[in-house]
Amino acid sequence: MAYPDSMERKARILIVEDEPAIRQGLVDVLLYHGFEVAEAADGERGLAEGLRGAYDLVLLDIMLPKRDGYSVCEALRERHPELAIIMLTARSGDDDIVQGLKLGADDYVAKPFSIEQLVLRIRAVLRRTLAQEEAASTIRLGSLTVDTANLTDSRGTAYTRREIDVLQYLHAHPDRPVPREELLHRVWGYQPDAQIETRTVDIHIAKLRRKIEADSAKPEHIVTIRGAGYRLDGADR
Ligand code: CA
Repeated sequence: MAYPDSMERKARILIVEDEPAIRQGLVDVLLYHGFEVAEAADGERGLAEGLRGAYDLVLLDIMLPKRDGYSVCEALRERHPELAIIMLTARSGDDDIVQGLKLGADDYVAKPFSIEQLVLRIRAVLRRTLAQEEAASTIRLGSLTVDTANLTDSRGTAYTRREIDVLQYLHAHPDRPVPREELLHRVWGYQPDAQIETRTVDIHIAKLRRKIEADSAKPEHIVTIRGAGYRLDGADR
């Protein structure tokens, strides 16, 4: 795993399902299997919650009040390409499944599903997405090469484990700004709703910039996207 500090972090799953009995059953089962769980009872709330970026995986029903699962899937996928999504299809119709997968779902489970099957699918999808997140052992930024295992770079500058974790997380999510809250959750391991000063993140970013940027006042690699977070630019992939 990429982040030794957060290896103990439980995978966090959002359940979007309108039928209370099914939703509660899923909550209980997933808690029992050691996941962190949150729930939403309609498509709009599911989307709003999912967009906060604090989840590893979304279990998404298709037939939902206010906004259907397809449209939630599409909107989530657009903003969070790396988020794992499993559709819960009520019908066993191939059209549902194809439509869901086309809109970016990673997998589907047809209702009625067995709990064992569902948990197996969840673990398989999480393994895949977490593997994609697994960090490179070196990160090249222009002429600079950062050695993430030995916490140093080609100029001999030393890094803290946390600085490297932040850099690796940004590197693993190259195409979008990463919100400070997401870094606090995914790198520091804080609960998504914890009232933690996001300045912690800014301080680490400032330190990183002094190490990797030619001019830390005009960063070219760790770019601030106003109102959205930080994005890593110019890294070799
Ligand atoms: Ca439903």
